[in-house]
Amino acid sequence: MIVMLIVRALEDIPNQGIMKGETFRLYIVDTHHHMGREKSHRNTPGGAYDFYQLLWFEMKRLVQRALSDDNLLFEPIETIAPSFPSMMFDSRKSWKRMNHGWLVDRTIVFPYSDDYSKRGDNGEPSFKISNDKIAGWTTRAPHSSRLIGFGRVDPTDAKSGPADIAVKELDRAILDLGLRGLKLHPLAQLFIDDLEDDITKRVLHRAAELQIPVIFDTRNMRTAIRIKKIIDIMREEEAYSSVMSGLNIILAHCGMSPGDPKLYDILKDPNFSADTSTLHDQDLPLLFEMASTRIKSSAKRWSESLLFGTDYSFLSVQAAELIIYTFSRNFPGTLADTQRILGGNALSLIQRPFRTTRKTKRSPRQLACTNDGGTSRAVVERALISLIRSKEWELSSMDTMLPPKQTWPQPLPENKGGFNGVYTNSILTTLQAKDMDYELHLWLRDNPGDILTLAALGTKGEDALTTTEYATHRIGECLIEELTKNTRHERDVSSLVDSIPKLFG
Ligand SMILES: [Zn+2]
Repeated sequence: MIVMLIVRALEDIPNQGIMKGETFRLYIVDTHHHMGREKSHRNTPGGAYDFYQLLWFEMKRLVQRALSDDNLLFEPIETIAPSFPSMMFDSRKSWKRMNHGWLVDRTIVFPYSDDYSKRGDNGEPSFKISNDKIAGWTTRAPHSSRLIGFGRVDPTDAKSGPADIAVKELDRAILDLGLRGLKLHPLAQLFIDDLEDDITKRVLHRAAELQIPVIFDTRNMRTAIRIKKIIDIMREEEAYSSVMSGLNIILAHCGMSPGDPKLYDILKDPNFSADTSTLHDQDLPLLFEMASTRIKSSAKRWSESLLFGTDYSFLSVQAAELIIYTFSRNFPGTLADTQRILGGNALSLIQRPFRTTRKTKRSPRQLACTNDGGTSRAVVERALISLIRSKEWELSSMDTMLPPKQTWPQPLPENKGGFNGVYTNSILTTLQAKDMDYELHLWLRDNPGDILTLAALGTKGEDALTTTEYATHRIGECLIEELTKNTRHERDVSSLVDSIPKLFG
């Protein structure tokens, strides 16, 4: 079971059916985090986890103050390491010292405007090395269980090189390296004047085809409005329109304009959301008041437009203020809104399962045994960790299944199972063979009737998983049929573990 931040209700909250003393688990995703090197800034996975530990200390400090002002509805009481990733971090000495900072469960990381990001004379695209580095961290054990990598490209490369140079680098980052989104920075890459130009449109169009989210650095409302306009134009243009409905745009830092009504006009668009990094202090009441009253849309709830982010290492622990604010009396939403903002929305944007050009077609195979009230699960997780530690396989990703969009549930208290929308009992990992072009999804899940199943799926074809949305109609009849047909029922968990090699044949 992946456990996370635990909060306790400080009083009865009748309109949410919550009773004083009940505890809840929240799953936190940091949507905006840099790794690599830029002048005095440096960050690595270990640095990120250290930072989250600091963030937790800062939260505890702020909680003390808020408690004495009687300002909190929920008190954060502890963070608990998730069993599967935590066991993996503990399995090797050099990993073990990074097994901390579990306030944050997952982190979306992208390059800085790195010292080595500039396009060289050798004809290579900008950010090539940066994208390689991000993939090196995010698609290998143990960090692949915590980090989700986004690539960066510079559309203006096309001015001095081939017209499709940035598009090709985007393809490489997503399809070959396994990155899962795109960060664009019109200011740092000096294409603010080229925003409406074809060179930008081509990159956005490709992102739409690849079905990946795009996070735009936005420092002011002017840029945000231009981004919205270019997307609207592309939706009308024949060359682009057919794929544009699938393109999700994240406006970083809420355009640094939480008091501007125009921000919320943009966020009414179901494909637009904004991350909260840089917002603090008086920004917070403004942001949540305006978002909850102005984002009126039949296509989404207001809280689906906001994503928690830290912008580490450009910013430090001020993000703690936002987390605490969502637990306060002043926050205009429910605990479900808090869970969406702190993590659910980000996971929903990444719902495409990890796969690369090594994608492999194969028929699904599944093993099943009794879960013995959850004890079998830990045994299988341990077996998978030794598999990952072997020389043969790389753990490229570890995702959880999610509720379909717009159905995010109200979190349940721990005494009723503690479900918060993230199916931590249904984990989809990607394994890549180290010495050949081969990848597969391993899907470990609890089923009704205390049954545990472990399935091996191809990453390509109609019996592969194309979404992490956990609903029968999204998973595909073909896959369900094949899984049922190819399930081997084992006597107990030790015989299931013995049979794991049969999944790979
Ligand atoms: Zn940033």
